[in-house]
Amino acid sequence: MPIELIETVGRMQAIADELRADGKKIAVVPTMGFLHRGHTSLMQKGRELADAVVTTLFVNPTQFGPNEDFERYPRDLDRDLEMAEENGSDYLFHPGVTEMYQDNYSTFIMLKGITDKFEGRIRPKHFNGVATVCAKLFNITKPHYAIFGQKDYQQTLVVKKFVRELNFDLDIVVAPIVRESDGLAMSSRNTYLNDDDRRDAGILFAALEEARKEIVKGERRRTTINGIMHNVLRSVPSIKIDYASSADAENLGEPEVFLDGERIVLMIACYLGRTRLIDNSIITIPEDPSVRRYDFKEGL
Ligand code: AMP
Repeated sequence: MPIELIETVGRMQAIADELRADGKKIAVVPTMGFLHRGHTSLMQKGRELADAVVTTLFVNPTQFGPNEDFERYPRDLDRDLEMAEENGSDYLFHPGVTEMYQDNYSTFIMLKGITDKFEGRIRPKHFNGVATVCAKLFNITKPHYAIFGQKDYQQTLVVKKFVRELNFDLDIVVAPIVRESDGLAMSSRNTYLNDDDRRDAGILFAALEEARKEIVKGERRRTTINGIMHNVLRSVPSIKIDYASSADAENLGEPEVFLDGERIVLMIACYLGRTRLIDNSIITIPEDPSVRRYDFKEGL
């Protein structure tokens, strides 16, 4: 069956009802389009888990700040339809802005705490917009599974939290980051990079990997870990760092020293030219750093 393009909420809800009445499991893959292999990996994950895959394509105005790139965000519906179909999507839900937000739209989901730091601190209303549009997309596509990328790590925590707290009846699945050969995480915004910035963009992954190496060798002091990432990033003189930080991966807590066995997340957000890039990496603090240090030397 060719992919079906759906542009209205009513039609999408009717299809979701039919699928559910037939006992079919539904996976949704929310995207803002201009698809790449990061997105298609999520569709493939949906295909593994469910009988029907709904990819959504909506550049959501409520998650962009006033001086951000909503207007110039890259768009190419024909190409996206083809890629979604080739990668196992059955439906592409692509509503217009007024279909999602009628005049005088007034309802928003607002989380406390977890949205105050990192991305939320720099982009103040961003996560309210993300949580609201995800809740709407869940009510429209009625999924059993919603597939998100680890690429937007804080977003996955926000979505999991409101889904749990508001009793949405679906599973959130998080898929690994898909990267270019130099380590740059795939992103629709990478198309903004000029040649020089593209060449420098591998520095984000290099900084994450350098911090990981030091953690494996035994480093557990949070500010030292952050300093390692800053130092690597600063090897690109033109870079503007929003943050390069480490935190507890479950609750984004920032202790002075991470504990044995603690799962942490390393997160970077920075500008190369006018392009804002984000990346992250999850690592578990080794149980016994001295043993790892010995192992590391043995391995050389
Ligand atoms: P976006 O279209 O950028 O809003 O992303 C839609 C979904 O794709 C989000 O869940 C992202 O985390 C995910 N995604 C974006 N880039 C990647 C990537 N390089 N690897 C894995 N998932 C990604």
